[in-house]
Order: sequence, then C-alpha cells, then structure tokens
Amino acid sequence: MTTFDVAIIGGGTGGLTAASRLLRKQPKLSVAIIEPSGNHYYQPGFLFAALGIDKLENIQRPMAKLIPKGCHWFRDAATLIEPHHNKVILSNGDEVFYRSLIISPGLITQLDAITGLNHALSDPTTPVCSVYTPAGCNKCRIILDQFIGGTMVFSIPAGPLKCNAAPIKIINLIDDLLRRSGRRVVSRLILITPYNHLFGLQGFEQTLASVLKRKGVEILFGHEVEHLDAANQTVHLTATTTGSQRIAQLKFDFAHITPRMKAPSFIKDSGLHYDSGPFENFLKVDPFTLRHMNFENIFGVGDISGIPTLKSSEAALEQARVVSHNILEASAHKNTPRRNRLYNGFTACPMYLGLGFALPCQLKYEGEIVSKFPWNPFEPSRLSWLKSKYLLPPFYWNFSLRGW
Ligand SMILES: Cc1cc2nc3c(=O)[nH]c(=O)nc-3n(C[C@H](O)[C@H](O)[C@H](O)COP(=O)(O)OP(=O)(O)OC[C@H]3O[C@@H](n4cnc5c(N)ncnc54)[C@H](O)[C@@H]3O)c2cc1C
Repeated sequence: MTTFDVAIIGGGTGGLTAASRLLRKQPKLSVAIIEPSGNHYYQPGFLFAALGIDKLENIQRPMAKLIPKGCHWFRDAATLIEPHHNKVILSNGDEVFYRSLIISPGLITQLDAITGLNHALSDPTTPVCSVYTPAGCNKCRIILDQFIGGTMVFSIPAGPLKCNAAPIKIINLIDDLLRRSGRRVVSRLILITPYNHLFGLQGFEQTLASVLKRKGVEILFGHEVEHLDAANQTVHLTATTTGSQRIAQLKFDFAHITPRMKAPSFIKDSGLHYDSGPFENFLKVDPFTLRHMNFENIFGVGDISGIPTLKSSEAALEQARVVSHNILEASAHKNTPRRNRLYNGFTACPMYLGLGFALPCQLKYEGEIVSKFPWNPFEPSRLSWLKSKYLLPPFYWNFSLRGW
C-alpha cells in the first residue's frame, strides 16, 4: 500500500498547477493526481470558441501531456474521502492514501436542472446553446452563423457560478458581432437574471449598466429559466424576487442558457462541507490558509472552496501557489515555525464589453480592487482585452500549469 506525500483530487486548473509547483520545487515528493478526464480545456477560451474567434483545438490539451513528470495519475473519479484514515476511494473501488490532500474538482454543471435543456442542447435543429461544454460551444458557433435576426435570450441562473461574468460577456460580444454583420438592427437581445442587479460589485455595476443600456439590451431582473420548450422555442420563467414585473414565458429565435452549478456530492458525502449558509455543500476551508476547518492535512483549491471570492482560473492559480507553498513549508520545517503564505482572495475575471474592449476586474476579498495596471479599472480598456485574448492563454499553458 503506497501512501502519497500529496494526493490531488482533480487535474484541472488548480490541481495541475499545484502538482507542478510541488514537483518543481521538491522533485522527490510522491504526488498523485486523481482525474477521470483525458483532456483539459482552458475554459476562459470557451467564449472565443463559441463565437468562432478561436478554435476548440487551440484551448484543449491531452491530460497525459499536462500531468507533470514524476506524478502518478489515477485515471478515475474520487467518490469518497475518509479523512480520519487519510484515504480517498475511487469509483472503481481502489483506495489512495495520502499525507496531505488537495481537493480541486471544480464545479458540476447541472444541465438537468432546467427541464428540457439537455434535449434542446443535443438537438441540432433547436437554436439553443451554452458555452459551458465543448459541444455547447460548437453549437453556439453554428447557430450564431445561421441566425438571421429575431429575439435572443440569455439567462443567468441563481447560485454560485464559475466566472460569473461569462453570461454577460457573451451578450456584449454577440451584440458586437451582430452589429458588424448588420444583423443587430433586426434583433432584440434580452438578459434574464434572478437578481436585482447585474454583477453586484460597486463601480463595475454602473459601467456595465451603462454599456448594456447603450447597446439596447433589455434586462429582465428577478426571473430565472425553469423549463425550456424546444418545440415552441419558448423559455418558461419563474419569478425570484417580489418585484411588480411578472413575465411567464418568452419566445426566442436564439437562446444562450447558463445552467446552475453545484459542488460535487462527494464533498458532502465525506462530511467536509458547510451544511448551511452562502457556501452550503462547498468545501469548508479557512479563507486565508485554504486549510480545511477540521482536518489539518486537507486543503481546497479552486472553485470547490467555500470562500467569498469570485470563482475563476486566476483565483485557482493563486490558491494553488499558496497551498503548494504551505504544504512544502510544513514538510520542510516540521518542528520550527512555518513561513506560511496567506491567500488574500485574489481573483480576476475580465468583463468583455465588446470585441476589443474589457474591464480588467481584478479583486481581493471584500471586493477590494487590485490595480496591477496603470489604468482606471472601471474604464473599458483595449490592453485588458489584448491581455485576455493573446497573452494569458500561452502563459497559462507554458508557465502557470507548468508550475512557474
Ligand atoms: C465559459 C467560461 C468562461 C470563463 N472565463 C474565465 C475568465 O475569463 N477568467 C478566469 O480566470 N476564469 C474563467 N473561467 C473560470 C475558470 O475556468 C474556473 O474557475 C477554473 O477552471 C477553476 O479551476 P478548478 O481547478 O477549480 O476546476 P477545473 O479547472 O474545472 O478542474 C476540475 C477538474 O476536476 C475533475 N473532477 C471533477 N470531479 C472529480 C472527481 N470526483 N474526482 C476526480 N476529479 C474530478 C474534472 O474532470 C476537472 O478536470 C471561465 C469558465 C467558463 C466555463
């Protein structure tokens, strides 16, 4: 029976980065990644692939090429953690033992939470898409090409999301594409949101509201899509706030649906979750050390952690840096005071306002703006767009995931 120095659940943005950093700094460490998927996608690129301004092949790499040298890969899913026995159980029944455990399985995209959505997405004749799966991105590109004008609906669901700017970014980009091809004048764009705000962050909220107003995007606050009727191209809505406006359904000629997302159930099944509150069912970790509140040798990295910051790749990368540093510190200085790093809530999710412009949107805990660049964070910036489109992807593949 092998006991790994570090086992990592999830070989996504956070898991791969943590493994690479650990092994780059301490090549003798025994590290295992538990990951069922054979591919990894750079998910921020989904939007570009869906709109035909990048190709899916460019934002995907085989997992075997990304798992760092010297790391053991269990190609299976974790189904249970027994934290008192330092053990992870896999779906094939195998057991993986660890000294430290990093939990980084991301979020589950709940396509079945909206009745009819799964069917509509897989039916090529229904103009419904979602950028949250590779197949959904392909479909977006196809139905967008075929769109000749009409009503487009875009939905935001209640609950936690990865990159909660994405459902609004896609509207801004599609609006721009339609303008360039002359189709905007014959189109109506409607955003459906369960909230009574757009983004909920001071400064960004005002900029976004004025951009959407200028673009002529209609906003239906306090509503959520409950059921999608593919045959009649209609979304059925449920009211989520007590406002006076009540719309029961909307017909569409194009729909982009953002599904609800949730934490994988093995977190709760293993008793490592919050049982109530804003982070219900998410991993119960300290927001600064990212260490589990009850188990010293368990850490959370990425979207799975119940911490008050926006879920993004940039956040997962920074968390992986903090956690791998602290695990190495703890193993190197068992009896001496540790020089632990603390996570400050750093996250970044650029808000695209149109083709060529973005708000940088870099934050710490409490919504504090991080101004790494000498421009106003509330002003649309071309540099911020260029950075997201051209600089970050190669940096991600060649440096971040490689542990540099
Ligand atoms: C459309 C879209 C646009 C986005 N735009 C941006 C952006 O502009 N900027 C930004 O910073 N972020 C963006 N993000 C968010 C970003 O991609 C995620 O926040 C980030 O990938 C989270 O990293 P993670 O490691 O937590 O999860 P992931 O990268 O999702 O990886 C999780 C891994 O865990 C594996 N896994 C799941 N369950 C199990 C299990 N039971 N056992 C073992 N392995 C398991 C999965 O197969 C997966 O490989 C976007 C996301 C989307 C979908």
